Amino acid sequence: MWELIKGLSITGRYLFKSKITVQYPEEKTPLSNRFRGLHALRRYPNGEERCIACKLCEAVCPALAITIEAAPRENDGTRRTSRYEIDLLKCIFCGFCEESCPVDSIVESRTFEYHGEQRGDLLMTKEQLLAQGDKVEQELAADRAYDARYR
Ligand code: SF4
Ligand code: SF4
Repeated sequence: MWELIKGLSITGRYLFKSKITVQYPEEKTPLSNRFRGLHALRRYPNGEERCIACKLCEAVCPALAITIEAAPRENDGTRRTSRYEIDLLKCIFCGFCEESCPVDSIVESRTFEYHGEQRGDLLMTKEQLLAQGDKVEQELAADRAYDARYR
């Protein structure tokens, strides 16, 4: 009986309080700067891609969602990825790839509104990942700068 009274008292307490209902998608709640959404590959300010094809992210991924192939680049012989893919249907958004990357190349952005109509739509290619990085670079850089003292 005591539990019932306790439960009803909580119901009564909240019955007349103003309700918090977010009218998504018109309204949105704030996102953490550590939010783990859609992946992105970043570049340095001079446009050079950060990724050095070390494959640490591929090795650490528990879902085996990352596929990388590497080769020396034609113009300067530096080691680069010739293929970099993330299968979002396998990904569990754990963030391990981001944590393992020595050059802050692969990151998870705040973008969470995306969809695919066919299976292939959720296979992110290197070009798509770089394009996502270019699109939200300012936000990515600001988020990482804000978090720098904890890393
Ligand atoms: S977030 Fe986790 S599961 Fe997804 S690609 Fe990165 S390491 Fe793999
Ligand atoms: S994204 Fe980072 S961890 Fe993955 S291969 Fe490139 S440099 Fe290495």
